[in-house]
Amino acid sequence: MKSLLKPVYVTQPFLPPLEEFLPYLEAIWERKILTNNGHYHQELERALCDYLGVKYISLFANGTLALVTALQALRISGEVITTPFSFVATTHALWWNNIKPVFVDIEPVTFNLDPAKIQAAITPKTTAILPVHIYGNPCNVGRIGEIAATNGLRVIYDACHAFGVGINGESVLNFGDLSVLSFHATKVYTTFEGGAIVCHDEGMKKRIDKLKNFGFAGETTVIAPGINAKMNEFQAALGLLQLKYIEKTIEKRKALTERYRCELHGIPGIAFMGDMPGVKHSYTHFPIFIDEKMYGKSRDMVYEELKNFNIFPRRYFYPLISHFPPYNELESAAPEKMPVAESAAEKVLCLPLYDGLESDEQDAVIHIIKQYAMRLK
Ligand SMILES: *Cc1c(COP(=O)(O)O)cnc(C)c1O
Repeated sequence: MKSLLKPVYVTQPFLPPLEEFLPYLEAIWERKILTNNGHYHQELERALCDYLGVKYISLFANGTLALVTALQALRISGEVITTPFSFVATTHALWWNNIKPVFVDIEPVTFNLDPAKIQAAITPKTTAILPVHIYGNPCNVGRIGEIAATNGLRVIYDACHAFGVGINGESVLNFGDLSVLSFHATKVYTTFEGGAIVCHDEGMKKRIDKLKNFGFAGETTVIAPGINAKMNEFQAALGLLQLKYIEKTIEKRKALTERYRCELHGIPGIAFMGDMPGVKHSYTHFPIFIDEKMYGKSRDMVYEELKNFNIFPRRYFYPLISHFPPYNELESAAPEKMPVAESAAEKVLCLPLYDGLESDEQDAVIHIIKQYAMRLK
């Protein structure tokens, strides 16, 4: 097989037709309100509450600032229990709040924080749990909620992969005290950069709105050392337009996912995740897990082989966050304490999955993975 002419990356943003965006720009030029809770900002907050099925949402410049602010909004301090199998921003948000992350291993199958291992990690300093719905697969929200209630802890979900995900007809964003979304260019739903906090009461929504605007509560009053994390009107305008296409995008990702599952099924040493019962997925990633002994080649060899053909998958999430400084100095970061996460990080490879992925490009990915297993070297 020949190398692909155009590089194929792990993802590519969906963008609406440019001519549909131009009227939004004209209106922004007309109004000359570019940020600070502008017209599109307010409209998008309402539209997202409707689409996602949540009560209150506060838009942010990006997901990381939303995470940082969510922790501040709940006055979280001391120690927070979290997962090492995520994007570094999850733990960076704790660090920026002077909070000590305590890593707990993940469970097999979903690769989300393992509820069975949370209790043993709770100390008198623990104030919250920060789980991640990794790849959009819902955490065990029932069990995590019980543990939090029993121990008087808060729960903030990093829901950056969980846009549009539902459990038994309800948004996954309605669980926990707060949920944080990202609308970065690599996510299923994007506003160039962007993010949000979902909350369940008006008081909290008002507090978050102040904290993302320097802590201002009126012209001359500041309630706390807030940050500047406001979403601007360009981002909000794109967000409104993107909502028109989101269902179609998710449908396309679902079809591509089903094709991968069908074609890669039965290859020894290649495992992948299925749909979870009762869950509405949004198909954010397509991770495969390569068992070197059974497949005959290591994950990194497959990664390099695909690159030889101009295909660029990503090893999300490798290395584990607990391997990066300064986190690797924490007691809870010891690799022997996290066998499931350590193993997942060594095996995982996320294959290209996005709205614009052409079928011949997906064919090439599948063909290479099938053929490479049989090659001698
Ligand atoms: C993307 C992502 C973030 C950070 O979001 P940004 O909008 O890029 O700041 C945080 N956590 C997870 C799990 C993510 O995937």
